Amino acid sequence: MKIERLNYRFLLLLSTVLACTILAFFVGFIREETIVYTHFFYIPILLAGVWYRRKAVYIALLLSSVYILVTLFSPQAALSVHIFERSAIFVAVAYVIGFVSEERAKGEEKLKETKEKIKEERDKLNLILESMDDGVCIISKDYKVEFMNKVLIDVFGYHVGDICYKAFHNRDEPCPGCKNTEVVKGKTVRWEWHSRRTNRTYDLFETPLKNIDGSISKLTIFRDISEQKRIEDNLRDAEERYRVIFEHALTALCVIEHGKFVSLANKEFETLSGYSREEIKGKKWIDFIADEDMDRVQNYCEERRKGEAPACCEFKFVSRNGEIKHVNAWIEPIPGADSCIASLLDMTELKRKEEELRETCKRLAELDKMKSDFLNVAYHELRSPLAPIVGYASMLERCELPDKGKRYLYNIEQSARQLEKLINRMLELARIDGKKIELSLEWVRIPEVVSEVVKSLEPEAKEKRQKISMSVPDIEVQADKQKLIAILSNLVSNAIKYTPEEGKIDINVEDRGEDICACVADTGIGIPEEHLPKIFERFYMVDTSLTRKSGSLGLGLSIVKEYVKLHGGIVWARSEVGKGSEFFFTIPKRRKAIKKGA
Ligand code: ADP
Repeated sequence: MKIERLNYRFLLLLSTVLACTILAFFVGFIREETIVYTHFFYIPILLAGVWYRRKAVYIALLLSSVYILVTLFSPQAALSVHIFERSAIFVAVAYVIGFVSEERAKGEEKLKETKEKIKEERDKLNLILESMDDGVCIISKDYKVEFMNKVLIDVFGYHVGDICYKAFHNRDEPCPGCKNTEVVKGKTVRWEWHSRRTNRTYDLFETPLKNIDGSISKLTIFRDISEQKRIEDNLRDAEERYRVIFEHALTALCVIEHGKFVSLANKEFETLSGYSREEIKGKKWIDFIADEDMDRVQNYCEERRKGEAPACCEFKFVSRNGEIKHVNAWIEPIPGADSCIASLLDMTELKRKEEELRETCKRLAELDKMKSDFLNVAYHELRSPLAPIVGYASMLERCELPDKGKRYLYNIEQSARQLEKLINRMLELARIDGKKIELSLEWVRIPEVVSEVVKSLEPEAKEKRQKISMSVPDIEVQADKQKLIAILSNLVSNAIKYTPEEGKIDINVEDRGEDICACVADTGIGIPEEHLPKIFERFYMVDTSLTRKSGSLGLGLSIVKEYVKLHGGIVWARSEVGKGSEFFFTIPKRRKAIKKGA
């Protein structure tokens, strides 16, 4: 195509040159005309100048030679006066046209090159934009979408060629907040935009972009900052939460910078120190510490910052009016900062109360001792006259007495025995309370203990025609025999007491390896469920006609509990009203640290 155009130009130029040569010979030599015909020479010169630029000078020289030859050899040689000037004009015109057209061609070449370069750069830019993680779009000044990268297309769909406000916002005119006009005027803007369609927030960076044709478009980079925003919001919420917690904490809180200055304090700290928050800010931490504690607390803080000291330290705090307060301080280094948070708890009142309590306890212990001593004496004193009463009563029994007198004597004897029982039990409990009871441990054969208890209580059971059965393995335990007898006696005696006539009492002992578990079961009146947890308490009685009739004291089971506890065992009960009760207790077979035969 190019070659064809070349040939065509060349042929056309050649034809015009030939035409001019012929014209020169014909008009100038044969017809002997004036030089007017030479004006036609400008046609090939012009063509050569436009097409072959400076080479047009050769054409001008060729035509000038033709013109000179024709003029010199023409019959009117006199016409040859201006031939050289004219020839010079030809050459000059050819040179100027050639020069101008060469400059123009150069300019065109440069423009082409520039365009190609711009295109290349634009392609490169598109490639970069395509591979970006952020969304990118280019919008022309008349709101036409020129480019969208893949990220943006994936989110908003393909809209290249569409009007942006229509495509993205379904509007008929540009959005009110649109920055297009500002940006195409050369301004770079950055703003935050929340898309309701995607419910995401974008950080938009919009900058002018020069096109090949010199026009300006808007390049927008969409950075999705929803996650960042969410984190920021969470952080803000957390900060607010911590601020509220800090502010409303019930302990005095303050932040100590570099172990020296207080930078932040809460309301409680204000109350504790008596200073306002403005006064506290920047105040030296040591100003709040009493002189005698200064070095110790400073050392503590230093070690705490290194994580080498326990979390809590006690010291005397100096408030604004010089009042000394006892505080417990928890100092915690703040990670990533040369500061720590101190939480101070005012212990002054607590200390005072503690002191009071200690005094009261001391006083109470003294009173308790006095009470125990008194009760001990009282019980012994009460017991002393009882012995002669019981003695004389039994002596009187042997005397001749009228029936009425015998009845009175019987009543005296019964009451005296009951009083003796009550005093004995109270004395026993007083001794337990006074920790004056010591177990005299020995290896005790359980069948022996059970038989002894049953034998002593059998008359009572027989009186009520009750049957006592036993299932006792032949085992030995390390225990205080008398106490063990007392435990079982109490339980069996209760079983007899609270079981109607012809009822059954069953004593069962189980060898459990490490310990024994004994159970005294009866078919008696039972205990209502609500009373069960309390029956082992002192003086606790379930109010029944049987309890009242039997002259119960509510002390037997509490003694059982204490004795079992002394042996290292536990006691509990199970019962069903109207059906009967089961009392269990365990005793370890071997007391620790005491060896058999010891
Ligand atoms: P008391 O010496 O008066 O019997 P206890 O401490 O031995 O006192 O018993 C406390 C209460 O537990 C009794 O008043 C009685 O109501 C109830 N209780 C004890 N053992 C039995 C039992 N086997 N059956 C029914 N109730 C019982």
